[in-house]
Amino acid sequence: MSQNTALSNQTKRWQEMDAAHHLHPFTTHKDLATKGARVITHAEGVYLYDSEGKRMLDGMAGLWCVQVGYGREELAQAGYKALKELSYYNNFFQTTNQYAAELSDKLAEVCPKGIDRFFFANSGSEGNDSAVKIIRYYWNLMGKPDKKTIIARKKSYHGVTLAAASLSGLTHLHPQADLPLPGFVHVECPDWFAEGGDMTPEEYGLKAAHSLEEKILELGADNVAAFVAEPVQGAGGLIIPPKGYWEEIQRICRKYDVLLHIDEVICGFGRTGQWFGSDTFGIEPDMINMAKGLSSGYQPLAAVGLGKRVGDVIFNSDEEWSHGFTYSGHPVACAVALANLEVIQKEKLVEKAGGATGAYFQKKLAELADHPLVGETRGVGLLGAIELVKDRKTRAKFDSATDAGTRCRNHCFSNGLVMRAIGDTMVLSPPLTITESEMDNLFGLARHCLDLTASEIG
Ligand code: PLP
Repeated sequence: MSQNTALSNQTKRWQEMDAAHHLHPFTTHKDLATKGARVITHAEGVYLYDSEGKRMLDGMAGLWCVQVGYGREELAQAGYKALKELSYYNNFFQTTNQYAAELSDKLAEVCPKGIDRFFFANSGSEGNDSAVKIIRYYWNLMGKPDKKTIIARKKSYHGVTLAAASLSGLTHLHPQADLPLPGFVHVECPDWFAEGGDMTPEEYGLKAAHSLEEKILELGADNVAAFVAEPVQGAGGLIIPPKGYWEEIQRICRKYDVLLHIDEVICGFGRTGQWFGSDTFGIEPDMINMAKGLSSGYQPLAAVGLGKRVGDVIFNSDEEWSHGFTYSGHPVACAVALANLEVIQKEKLVEKAGGATGAYFQKKLAELADHPLVGETRGVGLLGAIELVKDRKTRAKFDSATDAGTRCRNHCFSNGLVMRAIGDTMVLSPPLTITESEMDNLFGLARHCLDLTASEIG
């Protein structure tokens, strides 16, 4: 039996087991049963390998998370050491471990100014759910129990647990579970490409910001607890705020005494060219949520960071804060996150994303703007989007039956590139360690796949 046949039989076995017993995230299972899952077996640097030995350049760093690239010995060793030393203990009831303490201290060093107390969770969704409880608790402690409604944005993604999905403004997340919960509302986002019409991006950004003020006035500022937003909206289609947007949002939050909770799950840890999206866009948050790049996805880990305003009130309260997960501040996850942050600092990955690597990535991305299928390219740091359109001048989209994005994404998979399709917006977010020659490879493959898509639908 040739090696290929052996691999193929093994793949089939995994696919059968998987189709029979595995409920996947965000998957249509009827489709999966007929097509079979792609089985990813290992990864190294920026490359993934499937069970048939096929190599793919991961232009998405997994799900926007593998900042330091795959297969890093430093992180594996840190995890192994912690597993041997303290495989588990909890942080309940006045207990901690050395890694949770050191990671808290490290985060206080790198987080946006003033964010210096941290609660650990296991996923970005849990982080946001915890943040919602912190926001409610804060206003209760402040003697303003009516300040409860949380305003988020349309097309935002904050996760899938009940509160996080309620925060999320991507409406397809809601009906299956009868969401959003009461007390969560959504306002406009600065999606100029899709919604801006004849306005300039800056004018449309201000219009979107003012929808927050209008909502606060409609609800009454005494009933509004917080505004929650990503610096750059990721899963909503890489919506990059224009100049002036965040200044206006912060003016409004301050005016009406509304807390600003910034979801840094994608933007954190160098993705936008500075440590946090808040740094890149001049945001001074009251609270942030982080996950993904915090551990480069090597371990499940999230952290909610509190600034002085919220932190002081909770830390000075006499009552116990009744919240926490069995795995909050898990020693192995924290040890791996510490090793991850050490690699990020040692290899100057944030500086590179904001400097030479980011500049080269943005240059190569911009070169795709001349492709007949492309209406716009946009990006910041190591984030990039490519809009597929029917008419570049009017920004008119293909009808949904054309499924241009999915077609392009499938060509990418077949040709050894992982590029995500959000509708007809193609998105890139590679590891921060990507080299110039790997970027040449990435953008060469991207252009080839745009050509293949255009020849199919053009
Ligand atoms: N917040 C943002 C901005 C995200 O992009 C995501 C996931 O993509 C989440 C929260 C949810 O994180 P998780 O999937 O770890 O629950």
